[in-house]
Amino acid sequence: MSKRVNVPEIFGSLVFNDEVMHERLPRTVYDELNRLIEENKPLTLEVAQDVASCMKSWAVEHGATHFTHWFQPMTGITAEKHDSFIKPVGEGRIIMNFSGNELIRSEPDASSFPSGGLRATFEARGYTAWDPTSYAFIKDKTLCIPSIFCSYGGQVLDKKTPLLRSIQALNKQSMKMINLLGNPTGATSVSVNVGGEQEYFLIDRDLYNERDDLKLTGRTLFGAKPPKGQEMEDHYFGTIKPRVKSFMDDLNIELWKLGIYANTEHNEVAPSQHELAPIFSDCNTATDQNQLTMEIMKTVAIKHNLACLIHEKPFAGVNGSGKHNNWSITTNTGVNVFDPGKAPAENTLFLVFLAAVVKGTDEYQDLIRACVSNSANDLRLGGNEAPPAIVSLYLGDELGSVVDAIEHDEVAPAHEAIVMKSGVKVIPRFDKDTSDRNRTSPFAFTGNKFELRMVGSSASLSTPNVVLNTIVAEELSQFYERLENATDIELAANELVSDVFKEHGRIIFNGNNYSEKWVEEAKRRGLLNLKTTADAMPAYLADKNVALFEKHKIYTREELESRYEIGLETYCKSLHIEALTMLEMARRDIAPAVCSYMGLVADTVNSKREAIKSIPCKLELDLLADLSKDSDNLAEAITRLEKDVRKAEEIPTINDRADYYRDFILKDMEELRTYADNLETVTAKEYWPFPTYTDLLYSVV
Ligand code: ADP
Ligand code: MG
Repeated sequence: MSKRVNVPEIFGSLVFNDEVMHERLPRTVYDELNRLIEENKPLTLEVAQDVASCMKSWAVEHGATHFTHWFQPMTGITAEKHDSFIKPVGEGRIIMNFSGNELIRSEPDASSFPSGGLRATFEARGYTAWDPTSYAFIKDKTLCIPSIFCSYGGQVLDKKTPLLRSIQALNKQSMKMINLLGNPTGATSVSVNVGGEQEYFLIDRDLYNERDDLKLTGRTLFGAKPPKGQEMEDHYFGTIKPRVKSFMDDLNIELWKLGIYANTEHNEVAPSQHELAPIFSDCNTATDQNQLTMEIMKTVAIKHNLACLIHEKPFAGVNGSGKHNNWSITTNTGVNVFDPGKAPAENTLFLVFLAAVVKGTDEYQDLIRACVSNSANDLRLGGNEAPPAIVSLYLGDELGSVVDAIEHDEVAPAHEAIVMKSGVKVIPRFDKDTSDRNRTSPFAFTGNKFELRMVGSSASLSTPNVVLNTIVAEELSQFYERLENATDIELAANELVSDVFKEHGRIIFNGNNYSEKWVEEAKRRGLLNLKTTADAMPAYLADKNVALFEKHKIYTREELESRYEIGLETYCKSLHIEALTMLEMARRDIAPAVCSYMGLVADTVNSKREAIKSIPCKLELDLLADLSKDSDNLAEAITRLEKDVRKAEEIPTINDRADYYRDFILKDMEELRTYADNLETVTAKEYWPFPTYTDLLYSVV
């Protein structure tokens, strides 16, 4: 947990953070709590009792009436069940109370959360338990206590527990390696740091309310391409419109109050698309805070009569939204192991950790792809504007040449600072960064951190970080075994790094990931190209991956099976809802609109011909022919989709069902959309039943 300074009091902090605890807890309790957290030991009931009582007084002073264990079930969103602080004490009297036991654990009915077969509904018990490494906070007059969630039998039902386990595993393996390499700064632990950049769209709420697809699925299922998309490249970093700026201002304050330090804000590539990046923090806090950020974005948007869309691909034809996961490892003595320093080729600690990422990315490409999959992100990955579904690692020119040299046992070239000359005399000169950015890479080294860009905008940061932490822990543990008895550790480490670059260099790619050539080249290199969730999810059950997670005590096989099951179930259910929504909109909105409009056109022909029998009516007749052809096609597409959806529902096994959705339903949906979108372009605007792309993307000013 990062002990950051509180935001200035004028914003009114709503976080029960280190400062508050330091100020309010008896010194001995404060020290004991910190000692237990530091030493990774369970809390005692006595400490919990004191913390609970202090938390309650603080929360009540800040207007809270209720408390909740705030947890992250496998739905990927957060869950809360509120209990009030009031307790009856007889004779109709009540007091405000909150006990240590209530702080430590709670027992919500777990039966309606997805468990992927881990827990039958008759075994409804589930437990939530306080995670003291993430601060409690107040939201909507409720004290929220970040918690883990597990079943009566102890199986993990949430996204926080595996993350905490993976942080523990990475800490253990990192420290073993750091100690083996001499540990010059005397570090005793490492923390994993994460900064999640959040992309989103903002549209007018009245228009949003007119579209069932947005309300039910988060994305537009119909919509003809507007005359203007993002081709003018005028939105990225453009001036922020006043209504959007006012939303951002409110959002920043709400987030700061919750200890979420929203830092950068800007317009993104697509019209109406924006981004927020917080100051990075430890991985567990960053994950909790990103969940909160998404929630707060949506509620603040409502206050501005806006709708905040966090879906990965709300609009076809323009960029989708991602969540770049910036990830690094830092010792408690302040050393970032991914800081290459001035001479990366001589920085053994850096090279060993870099090698662990290179080898891990190559050996577990399938898992990296699987951990970012859902049906929404499938629409984005591999699209022209998003990282492809092929996993590769970008190191940049400077580091790339160091790796090349090591791979070929050559001396690494020296890189000197290059002065940037603007050609304008009054502008001061400055050093250029040694590598350019490569925005097309799915996983990029960016100076002193790695940035996984494949993560979807709506996803929890937990899953990708569980995978990154665990695969790097595994590679470090393998490296440790190889190096542990070396007589000359520096030499042995250099040989190891060189071997890794030789064997796993295929995963490094510094070129344009969007090009067709790369798809061919990647195939030649034997890299995977898992295009959809249905293709990617089986990675969770691959023997090597089960062994990985079991070895580091992150997931049992059973827990992995449940994640596989939930991943595919969610994939099918999402597509099922989308298909039904399309059918309903096509039948009840589009078909009647087109019929009325055809009626108007036909009536015009008839009335014109009543007036002048031989009048040609070219405009009307051509239009009628177009409308009629596409509406016949629409009718057929509706019938086909409906028939296939019924068929899909009857497929008994989940993997066959997922394949069917991928191979048939998605295609049917695409076809139906094509005819509907054609009809939109030839139907009078006043007849069209919902707002168009132009309305949706260009109305907020
Ligand atoms: P961009 O990728 O858009 O250029 P920045 O370089 O500003 O953006 O960083 C994006 C995110 O990375 C921010 O949330 C920032 O806090 C985070 N970040 C910066 N340094 C680190 C680090 N060492 N570890 C993890 N995250 C980091
Ligand atoms: Mg970035």
